[in-house]
Amino acid sequence: MPIATDIKRELFAALSWRTEARAAGMTAERGVRMRDRVGHLMRWARAHDSLPEIENRAVILCFHGVVAHQPDPDVECEHVHVARFRQLLRVIRRSFHPLALAELVDCIRQRVSPPPKSVVITFDDGYANNAEVAAEELDRFRMPWSAFLPAQLIETGTYQWIDDVRLLVHGGGARSVCLPGDDGPLTLHLETRDARHEAVRAIHQLCRYVPDDVRRARLAHLYAAFPTGLLEELRARYRSFAPMTWEQARQLKSAGVDVGSHSLTHTALGPQSPEAIRHEVFAARALLQARIGEHCPHFSYPYGRRASLSQQTEAVLFEAGYNCALTLEPDVVRCDEVNLLQLPRLIVSPLIGRMVFNLWQRFLR
Ligand SMILES: [Zn+2]
Repeated sequence: MPIATDIKRELFAALSWRTEARAAGMTAERGVRMRDRVGHLMRWARAHDSLPEIENRAVILCFHGVVAHQPDPDVECEHVHVARFRQLLRVIRRSFHPLALAELVDCIRQRVSPPPKSVVITFDDGYANNAEVAAEELDRFRMPWSAFLPAQLIETGTYQWIDDVRLLVHGGGARSVCLPGDDGPLTLHLETRDARHEAVRAIHQLCRYVPDDVRRARLAHLYAAFPTGLLEELRARYRSFAPMTWEQARQLKSAGVDVGSHSLTHTALGPQSPEAIRHEVFAARALLQARIGEHCPHFSYPYGRRASLSQQTEAVLFEAGYNCALTLEPDVVRCDEVNLLQLPRLIVSPLIGRMVFNLWQRFLR
């Protein structure tokens, strides 16, 4: 019924623009909540069935973790509850075209349009819950997906510093911490929830796009501000940050999951020296090869924003035989003009309604 479809599309388009206009006058947090509510309405009403079938456009989604418990909104803010995950997979299976990353790469290389409304699912960081929780759901919905592993962290069972920062700041009980900043010592107050969020942002900012030795020196001040053993205690309480084992990675690979590289130590490649960039790419490739055998020629940049990549990183990835590299620049893939070594992705937040709303807007324009 094309007329009914057109009317439905018009109605939901108008609703989404009105939502945007109203959200513009609210605090960011209230705006996010409103988009989440409208997204749930769209999911329930199957709004996405009426989206136009635009050529040459796809979306790559980036998940981090899926957990079976209710994620702590302060600490596990990049982990999705399994029931929400299922809701999103249902929308994708019903109203979109799930596509494997390798298929999207083939379409781009051969200059043919992927099927309309194509969605690629990827997971970064190699958390154990990818294998323990997400894999079963993806399998149930027959979804192809990619997992990007930071090889050295898997090898040594190391937790990511970025997660440690959230654990210590929100769960460590300190009133303030002091870190060396770009312009002298930086004191961060941790007494209120808002202040702790601001502190996490500031520490991530200070430590993300700097050479490894600078980051280590800065974080040493943070770790020293908390009692010995506390971090281990917090890690044990939040199992969602545990890295997967090589055995789990091998099981995923033999179940048909596309396993790719997420560098060696999960460092932002852009600011590193040329030798360090080569080491991160080639040593990760060798370690993956040794532990799981031939892996897919796909790479995902740690942190993924512009500062994580450079012409140098692209040249090294090309030399190492990677045929695509994924960023976290939030955009749709415009297949007729995209650079395969800079494929954009949308990060999936725990607010699935907001994600459903986002998918509507990305495919409507
Ligand atoms: Zn990552």
